[in-house]
Amino acid sequence: MTIDHGVWAAPGRINLIGEHTDYCDGFVLPFALPQRTVVTASRLDRPEWTVSSTLTGETVTFDLSEPVTGWAAYVAAVVWVLRDAGHEVPGARLSIDSDVPGGAGLSSSAALECAVLAALADLGGLDIPLERRPLLAQRAENAYVGMPCGVMDQSASTLCREGHALFLDCRSMATEHVPLDLAGQGLAILVIDSRAPHQLVDGEYAARRAACERAAALLGVPALRDATLDDLSRLDDELLFRRARHVVTENARVLDTIALLREGRLREIGPLMTASHASMRDDFEITVPEVDEAVETALSAGAYGARMTGGGFGGCVLALVEAEKAATVAEAVTAAFAARGFNPPTTFLALPSPGAHRLS
Ligand code: ADP
Ligand code: MG
Repeated sequence: MTIDHGVWAAPGRINLIGEHTDYCDGFVLPFALPQRTVVTASRLDRPEWTVSSTLTGETVTFDLSEPVTGWAAYVAAVVWVLRDAGHEVPGARLSIDSDVPGGAGLSSSAALECAVLAALADLGGLDIPLERRPLLAQRAENAYVGMPCGVMDQSASTLCREGHALFLDCRSMATEHVPLDLAGQGLAILVIDSRAPHQLVDGEYAARRAACERAAALLGVPALRDATLDDLSRLDDELLFRRARHVVTENARVLDTIALLREGRLREIGPLMTASHASMRDDFEITVPEVDEAVETALSAGAYGARMTGGGFGGCVLALVEAEKAATVAEAVTAAFAARGFNPPTTFLALPSPGAHRLS
């Protein structure tokens, strides 16, 4: 069945734990945010796409006869990848509105891709099972935008369920929806957007991914998912050793976190979050002073655990706190940022929300 018109939404995400593990065939544990990208779309009777965004205030029209650049590339990429997969993609007019902060490590790019994919699939009556959509959206970003991201963001934006985190095995794509009843335990996840500049399409992310692939090749394993800590002693290059150690220990931390969550022991995941941050800071070297400050101050102010989330080099920190302490922790971080002359951070509470769906 095809439809002519509708409204679709796909959320941003926050990753509870499991950073830079997705492209190593490893484990991740994101949940979807209430912040989301909404696409209002209507079908056109010709192979042409007109896209406008309230973020940029621009309208771009393309027909795939030439490459699309800038933000509209994220939309064109989805059209391209669907066509490559053999689908007859309907022309469409797409109006985009979003409250996912951009470039903050909350994955506004995946929210955009997944909302557009959901809209085009329904407008065209395309038979694309939900579980295949993350890989298509990831390919759109990899092949047509040029960002070598793993599959976590698009999986979270598509597959997450309200009140749950998504445990994803990025090799098998097996999923488990793990209950995350923060409010029921008197807890909250405070998100601190450091507002430190963050640019992922700028080489650092690709360099980390390349280091992980090189380490796996030297160890003779398909991906770092298959390496143990003992194996890593065979890496003579000290930098490569630390990069690989982050991934191997981070995968273990995701599994330890899952084990605690399955038993409802939410507070006890705090130290794993903090250890994840230390690993990103010291071994993977993807943090910046603002996010390190946010983590330190949140912990001093009573958080059970805190870590940067997202690709790194800025972006957001999440802190697990008693719900009644969230405001105090947020104030402490804001004061610490002021004392160090950083841009004021923004803060909000993250509620595990649903993945992509049609609104009307
Ligand atoms: P993140 O995914 O962490 O927010 P990225 O750099 O991966 O950061 O993606 C941000 C880019 O995605 C923006 O620079 C813009 O090109 C595009 N984008 C995301 N949301 C929108 C939107 N609502 N309208 C237009 N472009 C968007
Ligand atoms: Mg992104």
